[in-house]
Amino acid sequence: MLLEVRDLHVEFRTRDGVARAVNGVSCQVAAGETLAVLGESGSGKSVTAQAVLGILDMPPGRITAGEVFFRGRDLLKLKEDERRRVRGAELAMIFQDALSALNPVLSVGDQLGEMFVVHRGMSKRDARARAVELMERVRIPGAAQRVRDYPHQFSGGMRQRIMIAMALALEPALVIADEPTTALDVTVQAQVMDLLAELQRAYTMGLVLITHDLGVVADVADRIAVMYAGRIVESAPVHALYKAPAHPYTRGLLDSIPRLDRKGRELYAIKGLPPNLMRIPSGCAFHPRCPMARDVCRTDEPPLHAVDEDRGSACHFWRECLDG
Ligand code: SF4
Ligand code: MG
Repeated sequence: MLLEVRDLHVEFRTRDGVARAVNGVSCQVAAGETLAVLGESGSGKSVTAQAVLGILDMPPGRITAGEVFFRGRDLLKLKEDERRRVRGAELAMIFQDALSALNPVLSVGDQLGEMFVVHRGMSKRDARARAVELMERVRIPGAAQRVRDYPHQFSGGMRQRIMIAMALALEPALVIADEPTTALDVTVQAQVMDLLAELQRAYTMGLVLITHDLGVVADVADRIAVMYAGRIVESAPVHALYKAPAHPYTRGLLDSIPRLDRKGRELYAIKGLPPNLMRIPSGCAFHPRCPMARDVCRTDEPPLHAVDEDRGSACHFWRECLDG
């Protein structure tokens, strides 16, 4: 297994109390596999990714329990300099906002080139040539000239391509992309997502795609993990999940996106708001919003039931949900 997260817990200490952002997340990503992590904002998906990457070091965030095995090593036990080495070369991240992730005072060629100078010991000149190649690889028109331009001189979509190029430069085994297309127009979103999927296949790298948008993952993900209030509430192969969700929250998400095969049906919106992580509801955290909730849901926290060998649902009534 390329990445294996076991029972991860993260909390944030604030003046008003402890926010339990991640509450026992376990998941796996195989080499060459794409896992989509889906959830509303505040569901814990970004915090989980930051914990995995070891970039959660700003207090008040704290990993209170769990293990993160990447290629057999527990990343949480590595020293910071070892972890930084892993992060540069084997494990890369793509952020939502390329403009703040890129250095504004360096040309994109210098930023891309620096990866090869620092990690591969290349000369500046060879590194520049590789930067141009990479820009061509992510289909930036006129790469040989544009390599001298600065981040702000590119459109949002082109900047996101540059972020992808940075992430892929050292051919990492795993890329974690946090809402990589959210800031873009819908048509540009699709192009960037297609490019990412194509490169994922070409490099056979593992990809974790974090998103709040179930619509963008259908064609690119192998598996989906749905998060709610810091837990994975459903985990399933993408086609099985689309065909019949085994958790009412997943069903709500599916019913709230426009789908060609459901033409004419009214779009549904999940009522209410995600919970305050300082006061997560008792029992099943989703119960205040769940159309299927019963008494037991208010008192008993559902474990992740095995729906079948590669599928889990944290709902007491997953069978009923599956049956629609
Ligand atoms: Fe809804 Fe109960 Fe299932 Fe939670 S356990 S999702 S409240 S039916
Ligand atoms: Mg986020």
